[in-house]
Amino acid sequence: MIAPSSKHYVIKTDHLYTPDEAAGTWWVEIDTHRIVHVTAEQPVGLETLDATGLLVVPGFIDVHIHGFGGHDIMEGSPEALEAMAGGLPRFGVTSFLPTTVGAKVVVLQQVMGALTPQLPTVSGARPLGWHLEGPFLSSNMPGAMNPEDFEEPTDTNTAALLGAGPLLLMAVAPERDGAIAAIEHLVSRGVHVSIGHTDADFEHAVAGIAAGATSLNHLFNVMRPMLHREPGPVATAFLYDVYLQFIADGVHTHPATIALISRYLKERLVLISDAVLAAGLDVRGAFVFDGKEVTVDETSVRLPGGRLAGSILTLDRAVRNVVSIGGLDHASAFRAAGLNPAHSIGVTDRGFIKPGAIADIAVLTADLHVAATICEGRMAYSA
Ligand SMILES: [Zn+2]
Repeated sequence: MIAPSSKHYVIKTDHLYTPDEAAGTWWVEIDTHRIVHVTAEQPVGLETLDATGLLVVPGFIDVHIHGFGGHDIMEGSPEALEAMAGGLPRFGVTSFLPTTVGAKVVVLQQVMGALTPQLPTVSGARPLGWHLEGPFLSSNMPGAMNPEDFEEPTDTNTAALLGAGPLLLMAVAPERDGAIAAIEHLVSRGVHVSIGHTDADFEHAVAGIAAGATSLNHLFNVMRPMLHREPGPVATAFLYDVYLQFIADGVHTHPATIALISRYLKERLVLISDAVLAAGLDVRGAFVFDGKEVTVDETSVRLPGGRLAGSILTLDRAVRNVVSIGGLDHASAFRAAGLNPAHSIGVTDRGFIKPGAIADIAVLTADLHVAATICEGRMAYSA
């Protein structure tokens, strides 16, 4: 698809998803960085990008991504942010939250302080703000992180992180001493809190939700599993109105689990990549991630003992997986990759194709591969 020569143009499609499927032929009119009209009658006198036979869907929003294209955001370098913003449109992603790992507060302040000025200006997919995955996490559930880096959820630490940059999402283990007060503090300042890297029992998880947490960090992974007498945090996915971040790569969870969540929890599903620096690279082999040696193969990133250390999933593949493995309908899959992630972090002008929305659009082939990606009205990728 050829980039438009003007900032004011229309995309013609006979497969529009707003994310709801809209039958018929439609023209999506874009002026500068916003969608201004969506109409069934061809506008007169505007340059037309013909996407007939292709799917026009809301751009994907990745709220949980640590690295991409050989860089990790913990580097705190402009190159790391540029690698993510510049590389992600190839996979249909139009905005994202650069996601830190559980590190010392002073380290997080350095990373956020160094890169926050660049968030509104970097070109490509838009970094909307920060997702801090920790450091108020459970040392029983470090995943691939260093539990020695975890910090106490004190008022001082919470205030320091709140002051370090625009914080949109933070993962907290609610069972830690002081965690409930920290969740309340974060929520009172507009931060969306997820429950994650947690050894909470069901009651502690419910207390976290009561304190204001509104999502679960990568459901099933690095949290106490569900047993019939100890249902743990996983049971809240079924019983409470919380968003469910989910890594649909078929490695972090069994294909049957992808089918389970696609069938029963699709309304609150938030597809995430949890990608690390090896994502977006075609190379395989040994890398260093978060100071640790990891091995990358076709579908996974593992520590020397075999434990998973983030993923190399991309959101377009996650969409294909929930459709092909999970049996999810297209509209629900696009909602899980766009509108639900937006709502889970309080973003109200992205994730849908309607007048007034930011012009973040993915154009997909019939088999759900990315043909073109438009970020804030500009074509950022074309196959
Ligand atoms: Zn993560």
